[in-house]
Amino acid sequence: MKTCPYCKAQITDKAGCYRCGFDFNSLINCQLQSKILYHQALQKYHCGDLKSAQQLVGTASFFCKNKINSKLQLMIQLKRLYYE
Ligand SMILES: [Zn+2]
Repeated sequence: MKTCPYCKAQITDKAGCYRCGFDFNSLINCQLQSKILYHQALQKYHCGDLKSAQQLVGTASFFCKNKINSKLQLMIQLKRLYYE
């Protein structure tokens, strides 16, 4: 995150935006929660528990939509289509 998601000002302080006062802590917590869920989903994926992996990465995407979560969702969907 290089710019404020609300007003697009350059980020100079990790606590909040100097321009609009947007508090980044909740956003950072969502990103952290998403990463934890992503790694749990990846473990389930490698163990072959695709249904749990799909649920976990779905929740991870709820907290933070990004390419890495989308790619894992796609990999799980393809594998479920192929093997189930
Ligand atoms: Zn801002």
